[in-house]
Amino acid sequence: MADNYSNFVNKNPLGRKIAGTVGLPKPPVLRRYEPGQDLTTGPVAIGSFDGGNIAKALTSIVESSGAAVLTATPESTYDKGSLGAAVYDATGIRTIDDLESFRATFAPAVKALGKSARALIIATPPAEQDDPEAAAAQQALEGIMRSIGKELLRGATANLIWLSRDAFDEPEVLASPVRFFLSSRSAYVGGQPLRVGAAPVPEVEDWRVPLKGEVAVVTGAARGIGAKIAEVFARQGATVIVVDIPAAGESLAKVANKIGGVALQLDITAPDAGAKIAEAVARKGDKLAAIVHNAGITRDKLFVNDDKDRWGSVIAVNIKAEMAINATLLDPSLPGGLKEGGRIIGVASTSGIGGNRGQANYAASKAGVMGLVRAEAPELAPRQITINAVAPGFIETEMTAKIPFATREVGRRINALMQGGLPVDVAEAIAFLAEPGSAGVTGQVLRVCGHSQLGA
Ligand code: NAD
Repeated sequence: MADNYSNFVNKNPLGRKIAGTVGLPKPPVLRRYEPGQDLTTGPVAIGSFDGGNIAKALTSIVESSGAAVLTATPESTYDKGSLGAAVYDATGIRTIDDLESFRATFAPAVKALGKSARALIIATPPAEQDDPEAAAAQQALEGIMRSIGKELLRGATANLIWLSRDAFDEPEVLASPVRFFLSSRSAYVGGQPLRVGAAPVPEVEDWRVPLKGEVAVVTGAARGIGAKIAEVFARQGATVIVVDIPAAGESLAKVANKIGGVALQLDITAPDAGAKIAEAVARKGDKLAAIVHNAGITRDKLFVNDDKDRWGSVIAVNIKAEMAINATLLDPSLPGGLKEGGRIIGVASTSGIGGNRGQANYAASKAGVMGLVRAEAPELAPRQITINAVAPGFIETEMTAKIPFATREVGRRINALMQGGLPVDVAEAIAFLAEPGSAGVTGQVLRVCGHSQLGA
């Protein structure tokens, strides 16, 4: 459900008229995923620099999803608003002057993007370049992407994939990220660079249910974002164990019943929380495919006025519990522990990137989650376990409903899409990271913030 202002200026005839006459901002209605939906709203124009390194693979990824591909060149012409996506393989760009060739091809395609369409640049990490100018030219692409993202209208977004050079010969790692960014599942993900590296990618039998036959755990799932994550995981085929505190037992049971999952009443800060989770997984007779550390609390106070209890409770729930549970579940010999190729996903926050008044404790915990995934990723890589975080911006939940009106209204509008995200937007991003096909994505923080100015 969109916020009242968005509904008024988009759906109410009087509101539409007033917004048009006075020139009020009109937050676009975003296209969101529904089963059976086409990947994109129209054909996908794919361009490349000098033939590219992975343009052929991109074409086959898009074609195999059922979308039509057009070859983008500087001479290409498109009907206004006709394109579902513009994609560019920029991995071959080596000099600053090469960027002009990119501009000449990409700009006409971006100009023809329709409602909720996608601009996607595939670049290669600047740090991997052997030449400073090549690094500068590749980094320039991120700046371009972030600017395009702020220019696009009508729910269209721009993102970038940093494809590691060692993955040029294994482009199958791109399929899951490209599908995610082009689809409506990334409705509220904008202005984001995501690194994709080489990794063994299991064959995906059915993209609609990539977690079929798998067991997943979601903490803090009695309401809000966690309840949605559980729903989306169930849609993706997983059996979901939903975890929340005993006081939320009734709502937790409702969530579990709705999705045919299992409710586990548990305070994640309990010393045996990891063991209890593993027992519940083992009762399903399996190893764990994915754990989402979503449970989180705020106890806002200015840093100078904070106290040990308030500080400690935020740190305990938002980061210490996650570390302790991971340590337990990562024991390879534990029945119900995380399996080889498993997925750990933390829920951080843009507060942990940009900081927030009164939230030093919360920002500490959420920045900590980001530090954790970056540091643990290489350690877990030999077991093909990935660890990532999503950082939601302003999401419409009971947590944000408690924010005073004026602050809430600012928080909700200071992003390129001029609206708060919905719990499902965070859930879709997490489900993408949990897919077996996302094996090449690890140690990453993916923001789900509508291309927010905060921490930008
Ligand atoms: P919410 O308060 O609606 O839900 C959080 C859930 O976690 C609740 O059901 C709560 O009972 C549970 N929980 C709290 N402590 C627990 C514990 N010790 N053990 C087990 N469960 C516990 O919050 P939300 O808005 O849905 O947020 C979910 C996550 O997303 C949190 O980590 C939050 O920090 C993060 N986040 C939210 C936003 C937003 O805008 N809503 C933005 C950035 C990050």
